[in-house]
Amino acid sequence: MKKRVLITGGAGFLGSHLCERVLTEGNEVICLDNFFTGNKQNIEHLLSNNYFELIRHDVTFPISLEVDEIYNLACPASPPHYQFDPVQTTKTSVMGAINMLDLAKRCKAKILQASTSEVYGDPEIHPQPESYRGSVNTTGIRACYDEGKRCAETLFFDYYRQHEVRIKVMRIFNTYGPNMDPYDGRVVSNFIVQALKGEDITMYGDGKQSRSFCYVDDLIDGMMRLMASDDNFTGPVNIGNPREFTMLELAQEIISLTGSQSRITFQPLPQDDPLQRQPIIDLAYKELGWKPHIELKEGLEETIKYFQKVIEI
Ligand code: NAD
Ligand code: UDP
Repeated sequence: MKKRVLITGGAGFLGSHLCERVLTEGNEVICLDNFFTGNKQNIEHLLSNNYFELIRHDVTFPISLEVDEIYNLACPASPPHYQFDPVQTTKTSVMGAINMLDLAKRCKAKILQASTSEVYGDPEIHPQPESYRGSVNTTGIRACYDEGKRCAETLFFDYYRQHEVRIKVMRIFNTYGPNMDPYDGRVVSNFIVQALKGEDITMYGDGKQSRSFCYVDDLIDGMMRLMASDDNFTGPVNIGNPREFTMLELAQEIISLTGSQSRITFQPLPQDDPLQRQPIIDLAYKELGWKPHIELKEGLEETIKYFQKVIEI
């Protein structure tokens, strides 16, 4: 039977891919977004689909809808975007979670939270399992995002215990792919745009800090498997690609794939920038039969093709 699925943050990078996949599986989609970092172009091609509806709304305000499932993705994700209005970032995570959980409670809907590897902060153990409780600087410039997401996880588990809401908590590690905003300031978009334009590649710190990058198709597959999983499985569950790269390795791969003449320049490392990050994904494999399939090179090639189309070179 067709499900009615609410996707908050549906006009963003991950949300737009999710809208498409949920529609393809024969469901109705309500895409809710305030367009803070999302883009109508990401979902323009879905507007003519009778089973797709778009609502401009801010999740920090309550909304009444009838839905079967909720994917709560609304929240700016790139450091420059979430640090632009940090108070609003915390409100989006915390009040957004409360409003969406209240909606799920009223409709008896299943609800999935797009949490993040940032709940681990600058991790003292490596790689990170779900049992690791994290190391976040509560007063730093990343805290609006990290602590907002941590509080949202708390709210999800309290609504689960107190109100029996069916919850799913997904800890997403760095993800990239088409529909990323070319100017959102994240490392993959920055490096590709700089390489394509022949501009200097802006390396923060010495470039030896690491991240593990997951291609968007793999990520969305994990997200949909989690939503479809047994009600007893709440997570939190790590979803990400465990293959770890330093930022220098990433820059070199992008320079080689684009054939760019760009040079790498070094700038100060931002405050509280995590030095390493790599998910342990054994739980996702055991509970969801999920693991990523797309290698960095293949994913970067698709992403480069996308940026070549959307930016002026
Ligand atoms: P994005 O910035 O492209 O998308 C976020 C969307 O949420 C945008 O469309 C934005 O307009 C919307 N939004 C922001 N505040 C809102 C509000 N108050 N009300 C309604 N809509 C609002 O980011 P993304 O990469 O697609 O991330 C989606 C979700 O996944 C976020 O919750 C993010 O924290 C989480 N996540 C992403 C990554 C990643 O690497 N992409 C990693 C970890 C977690
Ligand atoms: N980074 C960089 N140059 C850039 C943008 C980011 O060296 O132009 C670094 C950043 O300092 C961090 C890593 O790349 O160490 C990943 O940054 P991003 O903002 O993509 O994600 P996050 O830090 O949230 O994982």
